[in-house]
Amino acid sequence: MTEKSIWVFLERKGDGVEDTSLEVLGKARELSDKSGLPVTGVIPGTMDGGKLKKIINYGADKLLYLDEANLNNYSTDLYVHSLESIVREKLPEILLIGATPYGRDLAGRLAARLRTGLTANAVTLDVDDNGLLVSGVPAYGGKIIAEIVCEKSRPQMATVRPGTFKPYFNEKRNGEIETIRPDISGVRDRVRVRERKISDFLDLTKSKRTVIAGNGTRGDLGLVKEFADSIGADIGVTRPLADRGLISRDFQVGSTGYSLRSEIAVILGVSGSEHFTSGIKDCGTVISIDLNPKSEIFQHSDYCIVGDIFDLIPKAIEKMKVKM
Ligand SMILES: Cc1cc2nc3c(=O)[nH]c(=O)nc-3n(C[C@H](O)[C@H](O)[C@H](O)COP(=O)(O)OP(=O)(O)OC[C@H]3O[C@@H](n4cnc5c(N)ncnc54)[C@H](O)[C@@H]3O)c2cc1C
Repeated sequence: MTEKSIWVFLERKGDGVEDTSLEVLGKARELSDKSGLPVTGVIPGTMDGGKLKKIINYGADKLLYLDEANLNNYSTDLYVHSLESIVREKLPEILLIGATPYGRDLAGRLAARLRTGLTANAVTLDVDDNGLLVSGVPAYGGKIIAEIVCEKSRPQMATVRPGTFKPYFNEKRNGEIETIRPDISGVRDRVRVRERKISDFLDLTKSKRTVIAGNGTRGDLGLVKEFADSIGADIGVTRPLADRGLISRDFQVGSTGYSLRSEIAVILGVSGSEHFTSGIKDCGTVISIDLNPKSEIFQHSDYCIVGDIFDLIPKAIEKMKVKM
């Protein structure tokens, strides 16, 4: 049976669900309230009933539970095949996927198979008066948000940047769970994740305090880390530092990195290009230090300190030591 609805692909993380998927599910709930289309979460792999019910609390009206142990770990071929089959059968209007590494891998291939349009890495989502999904992505160096619609083909697909939306939660929420046993016999399973180690990888989007280093730090991440530790903060960087390979891309803030929601962000030697500032717009208090009194970063800061990092930061670290 077909059902006009908004689907959210729920990526697995161990025996739970990836946070980005829950954020997207929360946004889908909001779109549902506006469009009247119900929200269906699609969860692959085996999971116990209690956990499935809990996912509904995050905003789903219904769950499609793809009950197949071979889907417990990500496999491009098996996931694409399973998703393609149920999408063709049930014809959702909209299909949203978190833009995680697996989500991006899945979405591109699935959209090509379904011959439909996909907006990659959306930072805004809305439905217009005609019920079309409007997905916003930064364009022209982040100066505008380009709004993309897919008028003709279905489902309208988008991947959503991690950390963009807040999850919804209502423990009283009820919903239906439909169990599907996908037929994956005969599917060539070429690349499969055998084991996913949840490492101590830092999810910057969850940091409450962040110290962000730019070119002005001359890449001295030792100093930056010492300062960050002294105030109990995580560190992030601008793109040039990640480009130079000084730190992994997982720490990059901005339009092609992560968007932060830190309560406090201390920004060191960053000029304030729009590519960067789009990643700090949802932070609480922003404190910036820059040599240049006319630095653009000060237009995006609550507290502006004109000075030399190499003079001020060692002093700040010393002060924190005295306090402790
Ligand atoms: C398609 C595209 C996507 C991009 N995506 C991103 C992104 O996601 N994130 C990102 O960050 N960038 C991104 N960029 C790059 C972005 O446009 C800027 O080039 C970059 O953010 C600049 O980094 P910065 O501020 O660290 O360096 P700079 O622009 O070099 O600024 C350094 C600042 O440090 C100050 N300074 C120097 N020495 C000191 C000192 N001793 N003490 C105090 N201050 C000092 C300077 O006055 C200056 O303001 C992108 C660019 C493109 C084209």
